[in-house]
Amino acid sequence: MATASAVPVPGSHLDVARDAEPATRAANAAMTAKLPFGETADFEAARRGLIAPVPEGLVRTGSGTVLWNLGEYAFIDGELAPATVNPSLWRQARLNLANGLFKVTDRLYQLRGFDISNMTVIEGDSGLIVIDPLTTAEVARAALAHYRAHRGDRPVVAVIYTHSHVDHYGGVRGIVDEADVKAGNVEVIAPDGFMEAVSGENVLAGMPMARRAQFQFGTLLPRGPRGQVDAGLGKGVARGTVGLIAPTRSIVQPVEEHTIDGIRIVFQLAPETEAPAEMHMFYPQLRVLNMAENACPLLHNFIPLRGAVARDPRIWAKYIGDAIAFYGADTDILIGQHHWPTWGREAILDHLESQRDLYKHVHDQTLRLMNKGWRPAEIAEAIDLPPGLAERWSVRGYYGTVNHNVKAVYQRYLSWYDANPCNLHPLPPAPAARKFVEYMGGAAAVIARARADFARGEYRWVAQVMKEVVYAEPDNIEARTLCADALEQMGYQAESATWRNAFLYGAQELRHGVFQVPARGPGMGADILAGLSTDIFFDLIAIRLDPAKAAGQSMILNWHFTDRAEKLVLTLRHSTLTHRMNEWSDKATASITTTRETLDAIVLQRLAAPEALMSGKLRIEGDLSRLPALFAMLDQQMRMMFDILTPGEGRS
Ligand SMILES: [Zn+2]
Repeated sequence: MATASAVPVPGSHLDVARDAEPATRAANAAMTAKLPFGETADFEAARRGLIAPVPEGLVRTGSGTVLWNLGEYAFIDGELAPATVNPSLWRQARLNLANGLFKVTDRLYQLRGFDISNMTVIEGDSGLIVIDPLTTAEVARAALAHYRAHRGDRPVVAVIYTHSHVDHYGGVRGIVDEADVKAGNVEVIAPDGFMEAVSGENVLAGMPMARRAQFQFGTLLPRGPRGQVDAGLGKGVARGTVGLIAPTRSIVQPVEEHTIDGIRIVFQLAPETEAPAEMHMFYPQLRVLNMAENACPLLHNFIPLRGAVARDPRIWAKYIGDAIAFYGADTDILIGQHHWPTWGREAILDHLESQRDLYKHVHDQTLRLMNKGWRPAEIAEAIDLPPGLAERWSVRGYYGTVNHNVKAVYQRYLSWYDANPCNLHPLPPAPAARKFVEYMGGAAAVIARARADFARGEYRWVAQVMKEVVYAEPDNIEARTLCADALEQMGYQAESATWRNAFLYGAQELRHGVFQVPARGPGMGADILAGLSTDIFFDLIAIRLDPAKAAGQSMILNWHFTDRAEKLVLTLRHSTLTHRMNEWSDKATASITTTRETLDAIVLQRLAAPEALMSGKLRIEGDLSRLPALFAMLDQQMRMMFDILTPGEGRS
């Protein structure tokens, strides 16, 4: 079957993004009347304490490759939104352009706009406590250098990861040397379960998550009024080298206080909120509360568009409530690891209470309607934020949306299945689409009707019905173009940056096909792989087993990793791999002695297995043929740039 990438898209006039249609202009104009655009407090907060902006708005590698470029957003230069951008999102896109080194209060500074996230620096008695070292080493290094250029050259004595998402730890190697961590000169502190969460959330399903993230962040979209303008949490995710240094200290109690380099830090664990492992911090001497990513000035995601296990907004609201109760009375400044701070106790309580109620409201109202038998899309259509909440900028859906968060709540409690048996075993998308289009009188008839609906501004329906035609006839240029045109208008109307990015990137793939970027090794860096427990590592091997190649075979392998003093038994049976840690079998067909370092190198394709055998880095006792036989059963065809807007190869 033809794939998107195989289809040439003629008609260069259709290759470029179209302008806003009248219905889009009207929808965006209506937004202007709905929200308090006269309020300027957020702009003042975003600028307050600025010492110096990001130098040249750029971060480059040593060889000159640009990894971060705020200059791409120079088109965001006035209050008035272009017709192709929702005015509420335009406002957020302007706010997220504030960048540089900011003094928040004595001893506490933030570097914003070097990446999607913030780096917070606290000046201890002898050195620096760095909270969240951004996504990549290059931007983290640049941010810290910018701080030092204005505040002096003090060493980093501690790094704190607020949670297990890559934009909060990936740049750590840009600011500390692992040797200093090993020597005990630098502490690395993280919430309980951090390493498990890092590997659990992004590894086993890492490849499709990375592909889907392209839609969420609009990574491959041009920047511009008809392209990517923002990512909600910030402008976008910085490029460069992602790494990880494992924590030397875990915060395990619900509340723990430590004094680090003269700074008292009260840690409040908030697990299963925005991330599986997350924590808030209160700094009593500074009267600053750091809510990590649990109280950003927007509606966050219960499931992001990239995909994740459904989060728990009920617990999320509870932990915000706890933070108010524990620290509210003593807090003068609220910070987060994205966006700008809030100053003044009254404003802080007001903000935290509205965040608490935002998450609780969407959760509770979804359940109320679920308990009446409503279906996910019906609930999502019916629920809106209540008056008093809805018109606040800080709860608008720039990242999550009420609509898709409702569906996440439904999924969390009742799964993907809406209980209608007609939806229990339907045909898969492509054969169903071929039937739909045939029943509707063929593609030409459907397209003719959809064109009329497009003219009436019914973009949601046009995209919905054109999806069927494209799945029935992936080479149908007219259908692809009309589908792209509809998605594009939806993108122009979207208040959510992630929705806009998804719609516009969908349109781009329909018009131009899938841009092929080569998949690299296992889809993760060496640090992340090394950080995986051996238990998870073997889960990762198991999900690659090709059952056709393993059919009828069975084996038992003992493994001994001398560098970690770990043993385990790996069993192949029923075309399934299972393993048991800390066991050793007498019935094993082979026993393998090696190191995790060696096995990691083989997985990363830095070392060939025969070479490891020759050099003695890997030793096999027993049947020498079993290990190569096992490797031969593993699927090597993990595919990053799979088809989404069109049916894919090898699927029905
Ligand atoms: Zn983040």
